[in-house]
Amino acid sequence: MVTSRRTKRRFSGQMGVLLPVCVICEETPPRGIAGGIMVSGCFLCMRCEKEIVRTRVGDRRYFDLKEKIKKIWVQQ
Ligand SMILES: [Zn+2]
Repeated sequence: MVTSRRTKRRFSGQMGVLLPVCVICEETPPRGIAGGIMVSGCFLCMRCEKEIVRTRVGDRRYFDLKEKIKKIWVQQ
């Protein structure tokens, strides 16, 4: 029995793959939806998620991020 059918999965074309855009940086991570998380219907890329976690209260960047996140809630 010859089974010469090789399953080769390639990450090409990204057909049918959801390409979400991050609400903070407005970019699509290379891994698409797998490269981030969904927060109440909005997409947040891993990079920004980490940044939010890392940023401390009182930090200027924190204020910046907070303002952007606020817009997410408003959009709902
Ligand atoms: Zn982002």
